[in-house]
Amino acid sequence: MDSKVALVTGASRGLGRAIALALANTDHRVVAAARTIEGAEDTARSIREAGGDAIAIVCDVRDGESITAVVDATIAQYGRLDVLVNNAGITRDAGMHRMTDDDWDTVIETTLTGGFRLSRAAQRHMVSQGEGGRIIFIGSIASEGSRGQVNYAAAKAGLIGLAKSMALELGRYDITVNVISPGHIETEMTRGVADRLGVDYEDIRKKRIETNAVTRVGTPEDIGAAAAYLASDAAGYVTGSVLVVAGKPV
Ligand code: NDP
Repeated sequence: MDSKVALVTGASRGLGRAIALALANTDHRVVAAARTIEGAEDTARSIREAGGDAIAIVCDVRDGESITAVVDATIAQYGRLDVLVNNAGITRDAGMHRMTDDDWDTVIETTLTGGFRLSRAAQRHMVSQGEGGRIIFIGSIASEGSRGQVNYAAAKAGLIGLAKSMALELGRYDITVNVISPGHIETEMTRGVADRLGVDYEDIRKKRIETNAVTRVGTPEDIGAAAAYLASDAAGYVTGSVLVVAGKPV
């Protein structure tokens, strides 16, 4: 039987790239999607150079046509879709009193609306294939509440309700739906937040290590491993769950 096909959004760098590599290492053919083709192509090339099978496709999850196109391109290339990882996400941080409508809309549209639309498009193929499927959302422990991030926290908390409801609707097709909830992971996103706050990232890093139970900050590979587990046959009875990968209890 041909190996399973996984579509990962935001696969050009950070967590998405690590998730794409981890899925390739666990025998998935991978579609690496991002807004910028260069980054997505870089991830796909790394997979191919390691002996795997991957292609890169441009996808802006805020654009409905782009969502349809990435799913169609996946089916055209590989003839099936088994795993969707909704990883694309952004921050637009500001205190609530200064947060603009655009800050709010952009974050909600990217994370929550984009995740819903892409999942809706993907599950149609998973259902018609009749062999089950896996849908994984990348949430955040910020969904518990995060100062200066009302938009981001609301979008990530919304994903949990979305995933649990989808799990109830799709379980009879053997499609599982779960959320990975990372804590602080060292990526361009977290370094960018430090830059915007005008603080030294090393200070943030030190503070995170002090407040974590496991005495280090997280790596993108920690999240890649969690995604590979949830995508695996071993996780077939895990659905509607939130897997916290944060180096501490939340
Ligand atoms: P990065 O900023 O490093 O990467 C974000 C990725 O999302 C890029 O590949 C970017 O690619 C893509 N992206 C952004 N907007 C869109 C869009 N509209 N359509 C398609 N792709 C898009 O972030 P991280 O790797 O740190 O974060 C990845 C996910 O993990 C996010 O959902 C984030 O919220 C979540 N997360 C991260 C944590 C951390 O500590 N780093 C903690 C908890 C959750 P391009 O620019 O090419 O489109």
